[in-house]
Amino acid sequence: ATPMSIMVGVGRGAQIGVLIKDAAALERLQAVDTVVVDKTGTLTEGKPTLSRVASVGELADNELLRLAAAVEAASEHPLARAIVDGAEARKLRLPKAQQFYSDPGLGVWGQIDGQRIAVGNRRLAEREGASLGRVGDEAAQAQARGSTVVYVLHDSALAGYLLIEDSIKSSTPAALQALRKAGVRVIMLTGDDQATAEHVGRELGLDEVVANVLPQDKASTIERLQREGRVVAMAGDGVNDAPALARADVGIAMGGGADVAMESAGVTLMRGDLGGIAQAISLSRKTLRNIR
Ligand code: ADP
Ligand code: MG
Repeated sequence: ATPMSIMVGVGRGAQIGVLIKDAAALERLQAVDTVVVDKTGTLTEGKPTLSRVASVGELADNELLRLAAAVEAASEHPLARAIVDGAEARKLRLPKAQQFYSDPGLGVWGQIDGQRIAVGNRRLAEREGASLGRVGDEAAQAQARGSTVVYVLHDSALAGYLLIEDSIKSSTPAALQALRKAGVRVIMLTGDDQATAEHVGRELGLDEVVANVLPQDKASTIERLQREGRVVAMAGDGVNDAPALARADVGIAMGGGADVAMESAGVTLMRGDLGGIAQAISLSRKTLRNIR
């Protein structure tokens, strides 16, 4: 490609809110045959809301939520914000957690008045040694509808669970269709549970879902696809997506996401609209075709 045609291509992208970092990123885009997308904040709005509080033990629902929110108050995860906002909407006063630990990809835990409160996914519950018992069924049904289940453990016993909803961005279905039309395979990568991930995958007609992925394993999933001969673009918004964005042939960050994600990426979608991915690929294919 001539420097001139590259400049024109990059300029066209900028006009439609697709920022392409350099010539190398524009050139690599044309060969992309697989797009890997993070779920939360990329396919979805990333503004999850609390929809249900279900105690299964002695704690009243409000007490369960109050303790969970007190621990989550120290976390920056979008699910944490949903839980704290939910508690505030119910006018609950949050006690102060004495200690706080976060386990990326699992959840958080802390100490409140000598009680150990852990809040997170199935993997966290299992690590705490809690048995999910009959709750498993009810939670599974919610997951099959696409809700995220967050378990609350009280001194390592299951105290209840919270349901959280995060709607699909309205621009997502059309964006995925444009990618399919361009002959690109779309794979969702998420730290969420298998059941929730599969529901979203079916609803959106994705080619594959990879669930239960720990943040540190996102990049190795990209490497596996590359070893299979695929040219991979990865789209994500979070701090924990940065290594995978850097590993991908083309990293695609969401404008408004974490700064480190944008720094690791070759493309930034300023409008947070995934439609920009197909547009970027098409721009690259046209730019490179024109000058040959
Ligand atoms: P994603 O890949 O969807 O962006 P993350 O890797 O950030 O997700 O988190 C993966 C999973 O870990 C979440 O779906 C949730 O089950 C659990 N988790 C992480 N942080 C928290 C938290 N602060 N509170 C509750 N659960 C959490
Ligand atoms: Mg994310």
